[in-house]
Amino acid sequence: MEIIDIHTHIGIVRSWSPYLKGFVKATIHDLISYMDSVGIDLVALLPLPGIVEPYDRIPGTDKVLKLSKEYPDRIVPFCVIDPRCIKPKERIEQYVKRGCKGFGEYKVRLYIDDERSIRVFKICADLGIPVLIHMDKEFNPDIHRFIKVLNKVPDAIFIMHGPGWWKYISAETGDEDYPKGKVIPGGIIEKIFKEYRNVYADISAHSGLNALKRDKEYASIFLRMFSNRVLFGTDFPCISPEGNQFGPNREHIDLLINLGLEKEILERILYKNALRLLGL
Ligand SMILES: [Zn+2]
Repeated sequence: MEIIDIHTHIGIVRSWSPYLKGFVKATIHDLISYMDSVGIDLVALLPLPGIVEPYDRIPGTDKVLKLSKEYPDRIVPFCVIDPRCIKPKERIEQYVKRGCKGFGEYKVRLYIDDERSIRVFKICADLGIPVLIHMDKEFNPDIHRFIKVLNKVPDAIFIMHGPGWWKYISAETGDEDYPKGKVIPGGIIEKIFKEYRNVYADISAHSGLNALKRDKEYASIFLRMFSNRVLFGTDFPCISPEGNQFGPNREHIDLLINLGLEKEILERILYKNALRLLGL
């Protein structure tokens, strides 16, 4: 079976785990080594629009494009810009012309329905590339405003990720970013998935993993219900709360495999949805 990780980076990231202090640096060779060790055929390599976390250093689009040329069979390049830059349309068009197959990781300190973001989403919709969005309290809030975006840009394809998205797997939400315990069915994600066919989500990082792990019984119902909308991803080289590394620690892939999903369901989540979205 083929496997595509839709959410990876290279560069320097700070550990948030109490069991691993300091920073982790992952090169392109480390990314390929993770892929080979776990059996990942292809990854989407995501740049960030500048320095978005004060201590992290994740390369921008030019570097991602350059590296993707060295591993054309293993790496699919994404592009990203800061929406406050000049000539956003020309810049994104150029990146797509140079080979980028998606836009993201979109991680900016603007409300998701900010006019400048809407403009970027429209450009991506016209170019036919998906937009991968990190959503939390700080970056691209909030899920209620996202519904306005969906009505304003009905043609855009969104891949959602982050605690500001995944906590809404449950109809009962508090202030916590990574809520635990049983999921109450009928959350906002369910409503959005049912109403808007252009919205997808990746299960990467702690947010996606926690949403599925907190209630595995509901996770298998949810993944069967939305098997054509969920994508496997890890957020490599980010560090897990346990102090090991997403991707090489196999946590996301093992969780999916151990849920007992039917082969066809698993195949969609592991690669078929990604192939379709990336136009491969
Ligand atoms: Zn990421």
